[in-house]
Amino acid sequence: MSLTTHSPLSDLGIHRATIHLNPGVDELYAHAIRLGEGVRATTGPLTVHTDKTGRSPKDRFIVEDDQTRDAVWWEGFNRPIGQDVFDGLLKKMTQYADERELFVQQVFAGTDKTQRIAVRMVTEMAYHSLFIHNMFVRPTPEELADFEADWTVLNIPSFKADPAVDGVRTGTFILVNFGKKMIIAGGTQYAGENKKGIFSVMNFLLPARGVMPMHCSANVGEGGDVALFFGLSGTGKTTLSADPSRKLIGDDEHGWTDTGVFNFEGGCYAKVIRLNPQAEPDIYRTTQTYGTVLENVVLKADGTPDLDDDSLTENTRSAYPIEQIDNIQPGSIAGHPRNIIFLTADAFGVLPPLSRLTPEQTMYQFISGFTAKIPGTEEGVTEPGPTFSACFGAPFMPRHPGEYARLLAKKVQDSGATVWLVNTGWSGGMYGQGKRMSIGHTRALIHAALGGELDSVEFEREPFFNLEIPSEVPGVPREVLNPRDAWTDKTAYDETARKLARMFRDNFQRFEAGVEQSVTDSMPDPDAQS
Ligand code: ATP
Ligand code: MN
Repeated sequence: MSLTTHSPLSDLGIHRATIHLNPGVDELYAHAIRLGEGVRATTGPLTVHTDKTGRSPKDRFIVEDDQTRDAVWWEGFNRPIGQDVFDGLLKKMTQYADERELFVQQVFAGTDKTQRIAVRMVTEMAYHSLFIHNMFVRPTPEELADFEADWTVLNIPSFKADPAVDGVRTGTFILVNFGKKMIIAGGTQYAGENKKGIFSVMNFLLPARGVMPMHCSANVGEGGDVALFFGLSGTGKTTLSADPSRKLIGDDEHGWTDTGVFNFEGGCYAKVIRLNPQAEPDIYRTTQTYGTVLENVVLKADGTPDLDDDSLTENTRSAYPIEQIDNIQPGSIAGHPRNIIFLTADAFGVLPPLSRLTPEQTMYQFISGFTAKIPGTEEGVTEPGPTFSACFGAPFMPRHPGEYARLLAKKVQDSGATVWLVNTGWSGGMYGQGKRMSIGHTRALIHAALGGELDSVEFEREPFFNLEIPSEVPGVPREVLNPRDAWTDKTAYDETARKLARMFRDNFQRFEAGVEQSVTDSMPDPDAQS
């Protein structure tokens, strides 16, 4: 399917543009290469370099209207913008786009037919179109025949706003309009905006139907036990859910309905910097496969990807359809979770590699959303440091964190799932002194938890966060289980733990009024005795 005679975008006032409707992989390679967007690596992937190498959360706005005014939590990343600003930019953009060549993909967000939305993704870049083809749920030919879009995304990177007249912050903008069911984006080539924009839409719409939207990966074991892995960027959602012994449900975004969990996406978007082929064979293979988009990976002289090269960014990515992973759950939909893992990459080296959470701690940790910010995924961040991001995804959660937390708490209670906190970050000292947990140890800890092997072991409580730590885990040395044991300088550990406990408490102040006393009571205690 290619060049159409009448414009499928005439409702947007786009009549003259050359439009490629639902182009396939071969076609998109050809267009991307012709347009100078990228080259084909000798190993297969389409390799592209982008102007921005991470998302621009400060340039994302939500149009304030009757639907959003009282339902959106207008704090943090959720900033309102007027309908007039949206209309003005849309008009300029469509005039601009009408003079160009455009790519349109008709796709779904959501594998659950009762929950999904149909999206028309209009892009200027051919490689974005391939990214979208890889990352969203691909309709069947029958579904395409009578495809009707609920939402439209118009993404024109070469169109830059003029902040002085257009009413936005910079040349870059991502405007979400729930009334018009449209997202318009300009001034950034970073492909991740395409998926995270629609993620925000789902995150707003689903709670109104009692469905919990989640920034998590998911997989399912032989016996049908589902596990969710929540966590901020770089904490290990993609890495740890791609587990040869379990079927992958999805990589980054899921919904939890009355019957179980479903993936929003049809693909994965994995970090590939310094990827170790032994530790992560599945993801490594995608970097050597035709059809993959490799973003900001540098090629060697022989045209093969150099995964160690971080000269463009630390945030190098591989975007591939989920079918590139060997062991996947058909349909990317499954039952209720038995285990939920909150991942954190604690640069302080304070949190235990694995601990079990009470229901109150679950809500507390979910709303806190702690990790260390790994350089690269967001613009302007070059040094690691602590970060708190409510619901493990504040930039994509339009509603009040308490709303998501209550929905999650209810689902956890009804399903009886066990919730674990897993630190994939530093051990034996803080960032710079200790070292990052090995992926092998983290996998062993997670396998033990998911396999029920910890049901019969004893747990001890650490004093500062009151977390329950298993006293032994097969395949993991005892001294790494309790973080204090892993530090040589115990006084330094206690001081650092107290410091982190204080950071948690300071961050939580703004949420205290919105949660039950029992949740506040579960806060870490900086004055505890070790
Ligand atoms: P995003 O939301 O940006 O997609 P993510 O949660 O999916 O982030 P990953 O892509 O899995 O994060 O990134 C985790 C990174 O940390 C990988 O580069 C992985 O190799 C590295 N890593 C190092 N040690 C560990 C560990 N113990 N567990 C998991 N990942 C680890
Ligand atoms: Mn990921």
